[in-house]
Amino acid sequence: MRRVLILGGTAEARALAASLTGAHVVSSLAGRVTDPRLPAGEVRLGGFGGAEGLAAWLRENRIDRLVDATHPFAERMSAHAAHAARATGVPLLALRRPGWAEEDGDDWRRVPSLPAAAGALPRGARVFLTTGRRSIPVFAARADAWFLARSVDPPEPPVPSNVEVLLARGPYTVDGERALLREHRLDVLVTKDSGGAMTRAKLTAARDAHIPVIMVDRPPLPEGVQATGDVAAAAAWAQG
Ligand code: NAP
Repeated sequence: MRRVLILGGTAEARALAASLTGAHVVSSLAGRVTDPRLPAGEVRLGGFGGAEGLAAWLRENRIDRLVDATHPFAERMSAHAAHAARATGVPLLALRRPGWAEEDGDDWRRVPSLPAAAGALPRGARVFLTTGRRSIPVFAARADAWFLARSVDPPEPPVPSNVEVLLARGPYTVDGERALLREHRLDVLVTKDSGGAMTRAKLTAARDAHIPVIMVDRPPLPEGVQATGDVAAAAAWAQG
């Protein structure tokens, strides 16, 4: 039986763990979210201690397939996975959901980074901020703007005075997102290009309300890493 490590924290990672019935699977989570959604099977929590720590863990646990199914913006973990795979010779596959695509009626501005997104905000904007609690300081520096910042867990205090925090976890509905935009009189949405269905409703609501979207582009995958967007293909690769 193959021994597979899934670097997780995403819906795709959970789907993969559930479908790998012919392998011994361990899923790894960073352990940052207070009450994470747990995948089926064995789970380990917390960092490995850098790329070297991950390489040592792969050796100690005799892992023979590594799947990087982390979030498309978990750039550091993906870099460590690529480094550890090279160091140990363990084959690595990245499982990445496709990014979102603009549709008719959308008004998107693509930017390369969170600071660029903060810089692209119109003066005095009322912003629906969905880029994660750790990004709040980058945006709150824009003192002319006001933010409704949605996150799964609370941000580190103190919360800046131009930020209201909304604790919530997807999936979200288009009706719910429309109501938020209306009730808070929001006039711009900021999001990372995470892709997937769980958090897509905000894009539809923004389109319907003629609200512009500032879309932070994904970081590239580490060089030379093979990737798929398909859970079944990743399962076949991991068990094959
Ligand atoms: P990151 O910045 O790329 O990683 C920072 C450090 O966290 C890594 O160096 C590693 O510590 C540890 N880590 C990250 N993912 C891990 C995993 N699956 N298992 C064990 N350790 C992990 O990662 P991040 O952006 O903070 O994301 C953390 C977790 O949240 C990931 O599992 C990711 O899939 C999930 N997530 C991220 C986002 C996002 O927007 N970034 C959104 C939803 C879910 P060591 O160096 O000590 O090994």
